[in-house]
Amino acid sequence: MPDGQLKEGIVGGRLAPSQYADNFSDLHPPLDHHEALVESDRCYFCYDAPCMNACPTAIDIPLFIRQISTGNPIGSAKTIFDQNILGGMCARVCPTETLCEEACVREAAEGKPVQIGRLQRYATDIAMAEERQFYARAEPTGRKIAVVGAGPAGLAAAHRLARHGHDVTIFEAKPKAGGLNEYGIAAYKSTEDFAQAEVDYVTAIGGITIEHGRALGRDVHLADLADAYDAVFLGMGLGGVNALRAEGEDAAGVDNAVEFIAELRQADDLGALPVGRRVVVVGGGMTAIDAAVQSKLLGAEEVTVVYRRGKEHMNASEFEQDLAASRGVTIRHWLQPRRVISQSGKVAGIELEYTQMRDGKLAGLGQTVIIPADQVFKAIGQTFVGTALGGPAIGLKDGRIEVDGEGRTSNPKIWAGGDCVADAREDLTVAAVAAGRDAAESIHRVLRGAGG
Ligand SMILES: Cc1cc2nc3c(=O)[nH]c(=O)nc-3n(C[C@H](O)[C@H](O)[C@H](O)COP(=O)(O)OP(=O)(O)OC[C@H]3O[C@@H](n4cnc5c(N)ncnc54)[C@H](O)[C@@H]3O)c2cc1C
Ligand code: SF4
Repeated sequence: MPDGQLKEGIVGGRLAPSQYADNFSDLHPPLDHHEALVESDRCYFCYDAPCMNACPTAIDIPLFIRQISTGNPIGSAKTIFDQNILGGMCARVCPTETLCEEACVREAAEGKPVQIGRLQRYATDIAMAEERQFYARAEPTGRKIAVVGAGPAGLAAAHRLARHGHDVTIFEAKPKAGGLNEYGIAAYKSTEDFAQAEVDYVTAIGGITIEHGRALGRDVHLADLADAYDAVFLGMGLGGVNALRAEGEDAAGVDNAVEFIAELRQADDLGALPVGRRVVVVGGGMTAIDAAVQSKLLGAEEVTVVYRRGKEHMNASEFEQDLAASRGVTIRHWLQPRRVISQSGKVAGIELEYTQMRDGKLAGLGQTVIIPADQVFKAIGQTFVGTALGGPAIGLKDGRIEVDGEGRTSNPKIWAGGDCVADAREDLTVAAVAAGRDAAESIHRVLRGAGG
C-alpha cells in the first residue's frame, strides 16, 4: 500500500503513480467498427422515434443509426452535427439513461436500449478524426454579434451564427474555452483533451474570434456590447455556489466541489492533487457524485455522499448513483448538515441531522450523527452571478436571466441561454447546446428581418 493512503489530512500521492491513469481512463470506451455495426442493427428505426423526441437537440436518431448500419459513418456524423454541433461531447456526457435511451422502445421491451450515446460517439469521432467539416459559411452579412461565455451554449450559438455569415466575438473570462466541458465534466467522461479538440472543431468554420481573459462586468460591459454589436448572446453559466448554512463551515478543508473538479480537470499530474483520507460530499446532483467518485479515484479511503432527501429525489441519475456505488462511494439519504467540527481550524468531521418529509415539507428530526472527515465538499447547487450584468439592463426571474421561448431577454438586442437562464430546460450540456442554437436562429431571423 502506498504511504499516502493512510496519511491523515488532505495530501497528494495517495496511490501508486501508475494507478491514476487506469482510474481516470474512459468510462465508456469507444465502440469498434464491428461493435458499432452489431449495435446499429438492433435499432428498429421506429417511425415515431420516441428516442428522438427525448433528445433536447432533436437529433434524427433512427437516421444516424441507419447510416452507421449501412456503412456511412460520415453521413451519420452530419445528421448529428446538423442538430448538435457539440454532438461529440454530448455522446460522452449526456445522461442518456434519462433521455434518448430511456425512451428507446428496446428499453421498454427488454430493459436493454440501443446504445445511442455510444453510436453517436462512434460516428462523430470518425468525422472529427478525419477533420471533416460539413458547413461552409454563408456570404458575409456584415453583422457583428457578441457572445459572452465559451461554454456549450455560447459555442453552439457562435457556430450557428457563423454559419449564417455573421461575425462573432466571444468574450470568455477563463484562459480556455469549453465552459464546464473543459472545467467541470468528470475527467473519465472527457479524456485526451477532447473538450479542446471540440472547441477547435467548432471554431474551424471561421468567423468566430474568442477573446480569453475578458469578463463581462470587469473588462467589458453589457451596455457597451449592446451599443457596439448588432446583437448579444449571454451564455455565462452559473458562477456561484450555495453555502452549506452549517455552523463552522469556514474551517480549512471545507471546499467547493466545482473548484475541486476544475482543479482536477486542469491538473497535469493527478498524483500531486491533494485529497482527504475521509471525504464527505454534501449534495445530491451530478456535481456531488462526480466529486465523490473522483475523490475515491484519487485514493480517498472513505467517501460518503450525504443528501437531505431520499434516493428518488436525487438529481443524479440512477446510473450515476450506481457508478458511485461501484467505485466504493457510500450514499446516505435523509441527512442535512448542522455543524462542521474542526480541530486547530481544520475540519475533523461533520454533524448531520436526520430529516424526514412531514406534511409535504422537509423537516429536521433533532437527532444527529457525526461522520469523521478531513475534507468536506459543498455540492448543493450553483447560482447565477447577476452582478456581471452591471445593473437592471435585463429582467431576471428566480435569480437567473428571464427569456422567452426563443431565448430573448427583456432587451430586444440581448438573448441568453444555457444554465444562466431561468427555466433552463435542464442544467445539462445538451440543453445548453439546444438553447444556444435556437437563440442563434432567433437572432438571425431578427437581423434578416432588419435587412441583414
Ligand atoms: C461538476 C459538473 C458536472 C457536470 N456533469 C455533467 C454531465 O456529465 N452531463 C451533462 O449533460 N451535464 C453536466 N453538467 C452540466 C453542464 O456542464 C452544464 O449544464 C453546461 O455546461 C451549461 O453550459 P453553459 O454554456 O450554459 O455554461 P458553462 O458551461 O458554465 O459555460 C459558461 C462560460 O461562460 C464563462 N463566463 C462566466 N461568467 C463570465 C463573464 N462574466 N464574462 C465572460 N465569460 C464568463 C465561463 O468561464 C464559461 O466558460 C455538469 C455540471 C457540473 C458543475
Ligand atoms: S426508439 Fe430505439 S429502436 Fe426505436 S428508433 Fe430509437 S433507438 Fe431505434
